[in-house]
Amino acid sequence: MKTVLAAWQGRSGRGSVRLLQRPTESSFDSLGLIEPLLAAVREEGYERPTPIQARAIPHVLAGKDLLGLAQTGTGKTAAFALPILQRLHEGRRGAGKRPIRCLVLTPTRELASQIAEAFNTYGKHLGLRCAVIFGGVGHEPQRQVLRVGIDILIATPGRFLDLAGERLIDLSSLEVFVLDEADRMLDMGFAEEIAQVAERCPKARQTLMFSATYPEGVAKLAARFLRDPQEVKLA
Ligand code: AMP
Repeated sequence: MKTVLAAWQGRSGRGSVRLLQRPTESSFDSLGLIEPLLAAVREEGYERPTPIQARAIPHVLAGKDLLGLAQTGTGKTAAFALPILQRLHEGRRGAGKRPIRCLVLTPTRELASQIAEAFNTYGKHLGLRCAVIFGGVGHEPQRQVLRVGIDILIATPGRFLDLAGERLIDLSSLEVFVLDEADRMLDMGFAEEIAQVAERCPKARQTLMFSATYPEGVAKLAARFLRDPQEVKLA
């Protein structure tokens, strides 16, 4: 059953989604984030981290795998985007075509676009490149973006596999794999696609999985793809 959180009528900077949870008493500064990210968060008008952010960000910064049980509206996108941006920035390489270092798999094009917007907003002072690919639109513009080279790829499973099948997606340098809204991806029948995408990822990687609910299928995904994960569950 889905946990329905009482809507919190607070200020919420990005997008049209309302923040469903009251921020915590802690501060973004205390989470170990670097100044360019703190500045971006301040510019969004975020005053304090939400519970999922306060609890997940330190684990993700420490390189741990994570199972986050939280729905959209809790601030979960920043909970993974901020520490991922920090990791990619700190481990930045030299010139040449950028390899994909982070892949976020998400069920719908709307979510994919929102996540890409979040990475661009929080990462605006870092100069990392992010692209989004999803079905229902032409392939060619997405092919071109992949050829140029990007640091972060946000994708829906079907279009990812289409373009990967054309050898346009090389995940050999991947560091972080995110499975967003895992329960919804399973509900939409993407179990096999998720497995196929995961097979293309290097074994040595950080994996983060988010789900609003925790049915058996999600538990199986967690057992299969996460290694000794930290768990953050919102009541
Ligand atoms: P999400 O659950 O990631 O879709 O985020 C829901 C909404 O909350 C988005 O519009 C975000 O801009 C906003 N938001 C995320 N974190 C915070 C925060 N710490 N303070 C205020 N708003 C936030």
